[in-house]
Amino acid sequence: MGLAESSQGLPSLYNRGASPSLMKCLFCDIIAGKKPSRKVYEDDKVYVFEDIRPQAPTHVLIVPKRHIVDVMHAAPEDADIIGYSHLIAAKIARERGIEDGYRTVYNVGPNAGQSVFHLHLHLLGGRAFRWPPG
Ligand code: 5GP
Ligand code: ZN
Repeated sequence: MGLAESSQGLPSLYNRGASPSLMKCLFCDIIAGKKPSRKVYEDDKVYVFEDIRPQAPTHVLIVPKRHIVDVMHAAPEDADIIGYSHLIAAKIARERGIEDGYRTVYNVGPNAGQSVFHLHLHLLGGRAFRWPPG
């Protein structure tokens, strides 16, 4: 990023990477508290909140605070957060009493139904799931 760009007064989070999608990221706004969400859990690495259109009695999104587009665009240094998100899912599953059967999903790309391009792990539970998934 050049000096001209950095002097435009944009928040630093949205400057970084200089990609148009990063500059208008819904989940970055939710993490920053600029858009409301029903928070479930937060630490220095992830922000977890209730999905606005739940597909199961438990449906939460585990979102890295660092902007990563999806698993396909993840770098080797993102491996920890991808694995860590599953440990947070297991913790929430235990807390919700759904550890007897839950599903974790990363939708990647339009054919898989990805609609928000900031990495997020879905945790779904509280009902039976079919296999193969639809
Ligand atoms: P994807 O389709 O990318 O795998 O998942 C995106 C998820 O984000 C969807 O399940 C959708 O319901 C959820 N979602 C989209 N917009 C919002 C929002 O503004 N707030 C919350 N809490 N969830 C959202
Ligand atoms: Zn983002």
